[in-house]
Amino acid sequence: MPQTSVFDEPGAKVRLDSISTDPPPKMTKAKAKERFESLNEELFELQDLLWGAKTHSVLLVLQGRDAAGKDGTVKHVVGGLNPRGVQVTSFGVPTTEERQHDFLWRVHRVAPRQGEFSIFNRSHYEDVLVVRVHELVKKSVWKTRYDSINAFESLLAEHGCIILKYFLHISKDEQEKRLLEREKDPVAAWKINVEDWKERDEWGDFTEAYEDAISRCSLPHAPWIVVPADAKWYRNLVVAESLAETLRPYRKEWLKTLDQVGKERRAELTAWHAGREGDSGEKAQRRRKRRSPARRKRVAEEPERAATDGSGA
Ligand code: ATP
Repeated sequence: MPQTSVFDEPGAKVRLDSISTDPPPKMTKAKAKERFESLNEELFELQDLLWGAKTHSVLLVLQGRDAAGKDGTVKHVVGGLNPRGVQVTSFGVPTTEERQHDFLWRVHRVAPRQGEFSIFNRSHYEDVLVVRVHELVKKSVWKTRYDSINAFESLLAEHGCIILKYFLHISKDEQEKRLLEREKDPVAAWKINVEDWKERDEWGDFTEAYEDAISRCSLPHAPWIVVPADAKWYRNLVVAESLAETLRPYRKEWLKTLDQVGKERRAELTAWHAGREGDSGEKAQRRRKRRSPARRKRVAEEPERAATDGSGA
């Protein structure tokens, strides 16, 4: 089992310097990989239940300094899920349209629908991180945003959204190594950016901004998990393990919902078969009109779902 630093109460003292960026000494790459494979299978299965039950959604927020491994986490952990129910959004410098709205507008519109996962590669937290460090708005503006973020995440949670926020914690040395590797590799060089190096000079300011964001915005229904991210294989394991641990308790509830839906569908089918065998013509038509309430509800919802998820195409 990986060791994780979870923050789920507002006001906790967060000292990133005191949290290791390395895997624990007893953890090996081979052990981690084996466990990761089995977690991937479990997550795929849990996602299927979530998709069918449609009572909850999942939001994963990925934050971290440049080259901390946000994209790698999406590739490895999220890549094991069924793409049918996953939406990944990367948040960069806000567009003109985004700037004309409040800072939560662009994230709220891509919050997950019930049954689905949304992955945020960077997120609304940039508005209390880079915006604070680079003084893009006045302090009086960004300071009020912690409360807005807490209210926003509480609103999502009230609607059945399961929220997990990950800070991918890398050391300054590991970041330098990765940035230099990118520079040397012609295939990865498109990712390099002068800003990445400039932000290294602001390491301490970003640390402070991250510590405040984690401390102010840790809630039981929207915890922060600080992930030791210097070893990519351990980072993947921690994210997958914490996600599986969070979703596992819902398994029973989702199975119960699916069992109920299955019973209703079987009853409908039995009645339909009986109708076909027993009679035809006018009588059968009358029976079709007297469809069960559950089926009537589903038929009414079907065009709406097809229109929004493209399954009607
Ligand atoms: P990597 O971490 O792999 O290097 P990246 O996440 O930096 O990739 P980019 O598209 O290069 O991807 O960078 C996005 C940039 O957008 C970051 O510098 C980030 O600070 C900035 N950004 C995101 N949200 C905001 C915001 N609300 N206001 C200003 N800048 C923002």
